[in-house]
Amino acid sequence: MKAVQLKAIREFEIKEIPDPKIFEDDDVLVRIKMVGVCGSDIHYYTTGRIGSQIVEFPFISGHEAAGIVEKVGAKVTKVKPGQRIAIDPAVSCGKCDQCSSGRENTCRELVFMGAPKQKEGALCNYVVLKEHNCFPIGDNITFEQAVLSEPLAIAVYSVDQSKLKPDSNIAILGAGPIGMSVFHVLRTHQVGDIFITDRIDDRLEFSKQLNPKYCGNPNISNVVEEIKNIEPLEMDIVYECSGDPEAYRHAIELLKPGGLFVIVGIPEVDDIAFPIHELRRKEITILNIRRQANSTQKALDYLSSGKINMDKMVTHHFKMEDTNEAFELVSQYKDGVMKAIIIID
Ligand SMILES: [Zn+2]
Ligand SMILES: [Zn+2]
Repeated sequence: MKAVQLKAIREFEIKEIPDPKIFEDDDVLVRIKMVGVCGSDIHYYTTGRIGSQIVEFPFISGHEAAGIVEKVGAKVTKVKPGQRIAIDPAVSCGKCDQCSSGRENTCRELVFMGAPKQKEGALCNYVVLKEHNCFPIGDNITFEQAVLSEPLAIAVYSVDQSKLKPDSNIAILGAGPIGMSVFHVLRTHQVGDIFITDRIDDRLEFSKQLNPKYCGNPNISNVVEEIKNIEPLEMDIVYECSGDPEAYRHAIELLKPGGLFVIVGIPEVDDIAFPIHELRRKEITILNIRRQANSTQKALDYLSSGKINMDKMVTHHFKMEDTNEAFELVSQYKDGVMKAIIIID
């Protein structure tokens, strides 16, 4: 099969490699049709790492994927050959203390598709997954939408974990695909005003389709002061979706006493300092989000019912041979890119 391998920082190459094979009874061989480019893939592409997860070249990245079931193991019942599927890229063990308490996202043996030394990524013709990673989709869901269900599932989980109250005032810091997915999910709930910040004006403009109360660029104005002028009682919840250490400070300044700071974005740095006295005096709760658990089907249901429509989020399509171009575009936030998708053939 053809695989797009990262052979050095910022350098992809298409290689012919052996097809993966089914070994276990719950394995599913999937023919990949589309792969979305995610911010975490970009970290590997530009720096070769996320924290202690370090790439060994050559490396196949990609985890936001959709495809068609090609072949199934003897005990598979959830999907059958020919079925179109969305993919949850996290393979949990199903046995450890975390899995047995419904926390498969923090499984002790978790392997993640397209993460270094864990599992090969999706930028290739075929992958072998477990049955529980495969989610059949109806004809009303496109492969693009199936790809978007991966970031959307993270947003669904983030909002579920944050136990919204009606009329909560909320800030979303970072209006990229994850921040916008959180915004879409919040729009299906009754909440107060929603405030958006991002350093890229195109993204702020894009976010206006969901009617935020305010959009601001911290490169241009004092977003904290502006938001507090509009909402003197400050925010009930802040979703940090940018990974930018500066946004962590904004979050703490924006929250009201007793507020909730939800960390969704993945920072490029290893350590971030917190104003500890402000955190303490305001008694702020910090909620970390580790991807998602049990939210893929919910995300697909939102998309298939039309309650959430994120079609406009797919701004660019590329062929496999143009993967380098796709990653350059996304890493430089050029051309108004939100989600770039690579078509696998
Ligand atoms: Zn992702
Ligand atoms: Zn486990």
